[in-house]
Amino acid sequence: MFSKILIANRGEIACRIMETARRMGIKTVAVYSDADARARHVRMADEAVHIGGAASKDSYLKGDAIIDAARLTGAEAVHPGYGFLSENEGFARSCAGAGLVFIGPPPEAINAMGLKDRAKAIMQQAGVPVVPGYQGDNQEPKFLQGQADRIGYPVLIKAVAGGGGKGMRLVERSADFAEALASCQREALNSFGNAHVLIEKYVNRPRHVEVQVFGDSHGNAVYLYERDCSLQRRHQKVLEEAPAPGLPAKVRKAMGEASVKAVKALKYANAGTIEFIMDADTHEFFFMEMNTRLQVEHPVTEMVTGLDLVEWQLRVAAGEALPLAQKDIPLNGHAFEARLYAEDPASGFLPQTGRITSLIFPPEARVDAGVERDDSVTIFYDPMIAKIIVHGNDRAAAARAMRDALAGTVVNGLVTNQEFLANVFGQKDFIAGAVDTGFIARHEADLLPQSYGRPGREELALAAIHFMSPPAMDGDLWNCGDNWRLNGMLTRSLTLMNRDHALVLTVTCRDGAYEIEADGRRFTALLYHRDARHMTVMMNGAKVDAVAIGDAQAVTIFNKGRVVRMALPVAEAAEDHAGGGRITAPMPGRIVGVLVGRGDSVAKGQPLLIMEAMKMEMTIRATLAGEIEDLPVAVNDQVVDGALLASIKGENAA
Ligand code: ADP
Ligand code: ADP
Ligand code: MG
Repeated sequence: MFSKILIANRGEIACRIMETARRMGIKTVAVYSDADARARHVRMADEAVHIGGAASKDSYLKGDAIIDAARLTGAEAVHPGYGFLSENEGFARSCAGAGLVFIGPPPEAINAMGLKDRAKAIMQQAGVPVVPGYQGDNQEPKFLQGQADRIGYPVLIKAVAGGGGKGMRLVERSADFAEALASCQREALNSFGNAHVLIEKYVNRPRHVEVQVFGDSHGNAVYLYERDCSLQRRHQKVLEEAPAPGLPAKVRKAMGEASVKAVKALKYANAGTIEFIMDADTHEFFFMEMNTRLQVEHPVTEMVTGLDLVEWQLRVAAGEALPLAQKDIPLNGHAFEARLYAEDPASGFLPQTGRITSLIFPPEARVDAGVERDDSVTIFYDPMIAKIIVHGNDRAAAARAMRDALAGTVVNGLVTNQEFLANVFGQKDFIAGAVDTGFIARHEADLLPQSYGRPGREELALAAIHFMSPPAMDGDLWNCGDNWRLNGMLTRSLTLMNRDHALVLTVTCRDGAYEIEADGRRFTALLYHRDARHMTVMMNGAKVDAVAIGDAQAVTIFNKGRVVRMALPVAEAAEDHAGGGRITAPMPGRIVGVLVGRGDSVAKGQPLLIMEAMKMEMTIRATLAGEIEDLPVAVNDQVVDGALLASIKGENAA
């Protein structure tokens, strides 16, 4: 076994790899960029080497600098994690060339699976079912149109070099094909430097079911069952589980065996994932692509098998045989993983940056995180804060565990998708296991209801109590200032901002009993307990146990998976009205779509531009109704943080 390895990655996956290495008595070397000098993965490692600037291309994608760091520190092997250089054939070869073991598959296997068309052809030859379609070299638009017509609509156009859910177009009718093809090729060339596409049948009611495989250098190959990753937004995974709900044992076995066939055909060693698209009605499955690395969602497999996949990766890379034979690999219970992102679902999932001022996870859940309290989410990397992973004896128990875990999670300082994730576990269809890749889009009204992030009675009561005596005032609880004291009773009128709405509350408090009037509704809350974080109140005969974190200006309430922020108008005003009709870039990025022109009149909230930043697409909307006065950007422009994107002359402006 190695005595020291270098981890060529950052964030949660770097930390997760170090945990196993540490348990196995292997020393770890971290690499880091300017932006990560104090990051958790650097703090965790035995040694750390600075490799360059904040942008990935100046650091985590600089293979040479990473190999130099390994040489300098005497590391014997390099673990690439996921993303970055993990599927870079050239990097795998350079490691070998420098006498370092690349903890991953052989470069030939990375190469063979690197492009979707070639991968499909190889799989087809190995006897693995592939999605019917055209994956040849002829890229002539007329010819491709003919192929699409032959396959039958709907079809998917896919960039062969695509990834991360990008470079795909769904085409429903022949008449829409030409335009979709052109736009897909443009995006493919821009994002991946390769305009080549393939055409495939769009599978009916698709489920994304992938098989975890492992091979070793002695010719052994096994599968560690499957994961269902059908809960997706824009073809990107949001929530994963193992095993796939409702999958007949016969199908599980057929998928596993098809995957092992593929591993053997490729002479594949180390961890890999074979992604299949499955018809939810017939359970028919087809190969989509292979990821030749450890997957983001590997923990759900670890939970149901009780195995440590990173340990297996290290053993295989060190030349050992696979630790277990197929028949000895257990499959117990059910596991879920939720990806907690710094993003605001209520504003088109806009990525968020900022410092994490509170971070609490329930001890019952496994949490893989790359950050701790006081760390920041920056513009430079993926906005994932943590993965929350739970296990239960069956799917229902695991779902309950996840609901509890999400209800007990507290992240303050930036907006997250926590409530959105919690809402998934409130859906009957989801609990019944009726998942397919259209689930999120179909249930959008329930996952992102009008009430998203807005207070219900409980949150109003908690906020009222908070502002009657915010912790920063440091006084005893009922000392709300003499101004409001009247016959031992305190009454105060409060205006609270929640998103862009103002709420007017009248709060009367006497001996720990709060009477709240809001919008003509009246309700009572009895305060039982309060400390710097927790609040316990009794409302309508039921106990409400919540977390309320804030100061004299603002409070964020975490109540059963709901996350509600309320602030006094002064605090909100500064954020809201800065700029008026001037719309500026919220972060550096690239313009990928311009939806309006100069002189157009627009409604408040109307989408104006699509921007890509932090690997996400975001919609820039009109902040007020009026006429577009200035629009100094075009598609493909690179914009800096704060750059003017558009200006709107308000309707009421003279
Ligand atoms: P999966 O199929 O496992 O979800 P994807 O194919 O969607 O994985 O890609 C994983 C993505 O994770 C990478 O493309 C990259 O955008 C992102 N990524 C890479 N490294 C990191 C990291 N250290 N922390 C968070 N995200 C990362
Ligand atoms: P990426 O490299 O971006 O991960 P994939 O080929 O794995 O691309 O596809 C990503 C997602 O797109 C899948 O998880 C699935 O939701 C959807 N998808 C891909 N191919 C098909 C298909 N033939 N029919 C239906 N949905 C598909
Ligand atoms: Mg994929």
